Amino acid sequence: MNKDILTFIEVRDGKIQKVSLELLGAARDLADVSGGHVVAGIVGSNLSGLIEDLKTFDIDLIYSVDNSNLKYYLTDAYARAFEKIITTVNPNVILLGATSIGRDLAPRLSARLGTGLTADCTKLEIDVNGSLFMTRPAFGGNLFATIICPEHRPQMSTVRPGVMARIGANKGRLVNVIHLDVAVDKPRVEVLEEVVATQEIANIEEAKILISIGRGIGGDENLKTAQYLAGLIKGTYSCSRSLVDCGKINPDRQVGQTGKTVRPELYLALGISGAVQHLAGMEESDYIIAVNKDRTASIFSVADLGIVGDINQILPLLKEEIEKNAL
Ligand SMILES: Cc1cc2nc3c(=O)[nH]c(=O)nc-3n(C[C@H](O)[C@H](O)[C@H](O)COP(=O)(O)OP(=O)(O)OC[C@H]3O[C@@H](n4cnc5c(N)ncnc54)[C@H](O)[C@@H]3O)c2cc1C
Repeated sequence: MNKDILTFIEVRDGKIQKVSLELLGAARDLADVSGGHVVAGIVGSNLSGLIEDLKTFDIDLIYSVDNSNLKYYLTDAYARAFEKIITTVNPNVILLGATSIGRDLAPRLSARLGTGLTADCTKLEIDVNGSLFMTRPAFGGNLFATIICPEHRPQMSTVRPGVMARIGANKGRLVNVIHLDVAVDKPRVEVLEEVVATQEIANIEEAKILISIGRGIGGDENLKTAQYLAGLIKGTYSCSRSLVDCGKINPDRQVGQTGKTVRPELYLALGISGAVQHLAGMEESDYIIAVNKDRTASIFSVADLGIVGDINQILPLLKEEIEKNAL
């Protein structure tokens, strides 16, 4: 093992993702303390243009696996190709973005390498011996834990987009490029077409009325009713992170610390517990109504009007009242 810091360069739609440039920035800061090279590892198809782009940044080395079977991200093939880069570089630290690709790839690689992985880091520090201190929110974000990986190498972390400062421009550093050959079988899954979602980004910050949906909403039928009611009262709907994490609502509607901060005239929280990270994004709302079956739920501590009850009973009553007045 050497002292190098290896960064996975994430490519989507033929473009290097911002998070990878941020990780390279973090890698440069770490290498300045521990020594070693800042190494970019890139995997994909037709990479020559992207490699030229990478050379314009303040990095030392680029390793690439360029293969037509790597045109689209597929876990198996990318894991095999990037593992080849890792075993060739033999780095002290590996960084990946905490994106859907990074979150898919990183645990698979850490299992293959038999090492630890700290996910979703917000701060990285290193000592002169190369021990990495990986800080991330813990216990519901109420405190930050600094995690070390003393027994195994390489040390691996994923870092959320937008946390680190991006790498600076190359000021005359010679960047070597090493191409590796990896036998990549024709993927077992064939991607026929990539369709980019062209949805509008919801502007919940501007809404005067928000119906905000939490895990307690229950099934899809209730979810649809809440969304329908939001339209009926000329508002829109937002949600807690639970609904984003389970893929039911898009992230642009998430309220809270890692979502958006809202201040509507009316915030109606349905089945939201009121975790501190959620309250941080909505407690300044003018009037808050909360529906929750648990009378001790924290959402009631900020609510102007609290309704203790089961959503399955309250929602039909709300619907009836709203329809009566709105239709
Ligand atoms: C670093 C970090 C950042 C985070 N950022 C955010 C953020 O930006 N926004 C955010 O929302 N969260 C965020 N979270 C997550 C947060 O800690 C909570 O896990 C999340 O807010 C919980 O969502 P919830 O209230 O919908 O679900 P739960 O906590 O599971 O609560 C569900 C609630 O529904 C009630 N309920 C269940 N069934 C019914 C029923 N039938 N009728 C009535 N009530 C019912 C329950 O009593 C409960 O109170 C973050 C966490 C971390 C660690």
